[in-house]
Amino acid sequence: MSLADNLAAVRSRIARACEQAGRDPEEVTLLAVSKNHPASTVAEAANLGLTLFGENRVQEAKIKIPASPERARWHFIGHLQSNKAREAVSLFEMIESLDSPALAAEVQKQAEKQAKTLRVLVEVNVAGESSKFGWNPERLLEELPLLKGFKRLELQGFMTVAPYSNDPERVRPVFRRLRELRDRCVDVLGLPLPVLSMGMSGDLEVAIQEGATLVRVGTALFGPRPRVVPVAE
Ligand SMILES: *Cc1c(COP(=O)(O)O)cnc(C)c1O
Repeated sequence: MSLADNLAAVRSRIARACEQAGRDPEEVTLLAVSKNHPASTVAEAANLGLTLFGENRVQEAKIKIPASPERARWHFIGHLQSNKAREAVSLFEMIESLDSPALAAEVQKQAEKQAKTLRVLVEVNVAGESSKFGWNPERLLEELPLLKGFKRLELQGFMTVAPYSNDPERVRPVFRRLRELRDRCVDVLGLPLPVLSMGMSGDLEVAIQEGATLVRVGTALFGPRPRVVPVAE
């Protein structure tokens, strides 16, 4: 299958899921996860009309982004270490994986230094998996008001990575819970929070049915990922 075929298939999965859910496909943005793939793949995807790309490692992104077409826009979707926040702020238009109050403070500081405002999503570890990063859902209402003090961060919503399962129905409650948490945060904190980044290659339909506005798709577009290409530190 070519990238063009894969893209058509993903777009039709999104369209069908929207139809089933009675949603307008315009409400769902496709983010192409290009991690482990070279800049030439990004260029090919950009030629097919994809404009939004996701990367999970700063070291990889800082080589790939300058080598990619300028019209490509970039979201950071991995765990960000504080010592990489400065580079992430300069490379990305959004950090989807703000996973702790300490990281939020560091990103605010770096954005301030770069005189930049950064769009962010708070990553929530909905299922409480010890292997995953993300805010504890119980503490969101208590801790999110902190972010209001960070004037360089524009909080737009939430992101989650669901537990791996062969059966997408099993992760539906995770997506539903993130939407419910979002709705509560909107009510209690009086913030708009329109973005829900959830759903990947294996479970995007279920995520869309539960309200996703951004789906992050790698494998279904680009095929299996090559092993991580080592890059200079
Ligand atoms: C790799 C990755 C994806 C894409 O996963 P696929 O199953 O290949 O579509 C989505 N979100 C995050 C945070 C990732 O790290």
